[in-house]
Amino acid sequence: MPELPEVVTVVKLLAPKIIHQTIVKFEIYYRKLLWRNEVDDFKQRVENQTIQNIYNKGKYIIIELENDVIISHLRMEGRWSVEPQKQLSYKENWLEAQFIFQDGNVLRYYDSRKFGTLEIVSKATFLSGEALKNVGPAVLDPNLTAKYLYDVFRKNKRPIKTVLLDQSIIAGIGNIYDNEILFAAKINPLTLANQISLKKVENILKHAHNIIEHSISVGGTTIHSFAPQKDVIGGYQDFLKVHGREKQECYVCQTKIEKMKIQGRGTYFCPFCQK
Ligand SMILES: [Zn+2]
Repeated sequence: MPELPEVVTVVKLLAPKIIHQTIVKFEIYYRKLLWRNEVDDFKQRVENQTIQNIYNKGKYIIIELENDVIISHLRMEGRWSVEPQKQLSYKENWLEAQFIFQDGNVLRYYDSRKFGTLEIVSKATFLSGEALKNVGPAVLDPNLTAKYLYDVFRKNKRPIKTVLLDQSIIAGIGNIYDNEILFAAKINPLTLANQISLKKVENILKHAHNIIEHSISVGGTTIHSFAPQKDVIGGYQDFLKVHGREKQECYVCQTKIEKMKIQGRGTYFCPFCQK
């Protein structure tokens, strides 16, 4: 599942190919992709519009048009691709929608699992609208301070593992980076959020920054299927210290890495380093 570094990587790869392109035609093959818009409304609002910008807010990709923004969430397996009309980067039955550009290239959305979503909303109000109103500050957002996190954690009796995944508190951390950040900060994933001191919160945030920045610099993590673009794979999987390393030795203390489930999520940790 794409997390913040993967979404940032997708945005970086798409930006030079779509900014200033004019959409001449929109076609959809999987109706549920647009879960809050009518197809005709969506079509009317994107056709003959020029793409002004693309960026991310947490794990959401924002494609800015003249009056509206398209908000994309890749969920499990969503992929964007810019390609010539006759060339499909992925399987045809994964293709859910396409935006045909004036220059003949096509921006296509593929999704093998069909969980991803697209929505179009007014540019003026989208930050306060339904799609994004519950999205907290992103990991690298200057508004995400240790003091803010500490105040949120103090009122929270859930395990830190679960709290770091809560997108309304911090946007952009998914299961892989959650495991890696807690290992780096030497915190047991079952520790209740309200038991964590301000000093430890500072430490968590410092490691979250380092890990996410490092991952962005190498193009994200490719495990299972995530690839920011066809034939482009991320590099951070080579730096993972606990995620996916069950029964292998901890790089720090040689204790065997363990795996448990916390609220259904595979949680990897070192029982010695993360007491
Ligand atoms: Zn260890």
